[in-house]
Amino acid sequence: MVAPIYFYEREKEFGFLSNFERTAFFALAPDAGVDGIAVKYPTNEHFYQSCRARPGAIRDYIISAPHAWYAMKIGRSLRPADAVPDWDKVKLGIMENGLFHKFQDRVLARMLLATGEAPLHENSPTDYFWGCGAKKTGASWLGKLLEKVRSELRRARAGSPGQYHILTCSNCDSVMGYCFVGGVKKCLGCGRILEVRAEKGEVKVFSVPCRDPEVS
Ligand SMILES: [Zn+2]
Repeated sequence: MVAPIYFYEREKEFGFLSNFERTAFFALAPDAGVDGIAVKYPTNEHFYQSCRARPGAIRDYIISAPHAWYAMKIGRSLRPADAVPDWDKVKLGIMENGLFHKFQDRVLARMLLATGEAPLHENSPTDYFWGCGAKKTGASWLGKLLEKVRSELRRARAGSPGQYHILTCSNCDSVMGYCFVGGVKKCLGCGRILEVRAEKGEVKVFSVPCRDPEVS
């Protein structure tokens, strides 16, 4: 039996597993239409909490929060009129989507793979849904989703891709590394934001518009 890994504070060991970890990523909001615009999220907490708000000013306000803690506080205190309906039915899928985006980063992917087979638990003293809680009896959904991402990264690395593929940029031929099918990723070669889609049995990347001054 492999010893479990407990993580919580971003600054401490295994803090990169926390949603407060600061490796920004680009993504389309899960409710974006076919003409969606990619947005830069400072942390996965910004991504997750912003998705609680209906598209518009409040969502943008959460994305621009100066720290993940504020994104969390705003997301948890939305007026019903500003919140998306049925959040409890969709929140696991949105967290999973954000994590798949986050771990496209090659450094974070390597660190997650290095945790091997260890069960992962967010060691929150109060959260028995995402974390394990003080009594270590919680559902540990964040850890379970991280383990899912990890096993998909492992498959891609071993050459039997599923949700991740190792792709090159359609624009500049740079190696883009782990690309999540259904997600977007910034090419570090040409700086374009690329959407990763499966079409007719083939996984390809396509440019998508982006609302970020750094991206041309
Ligand atoms: Zn490129």
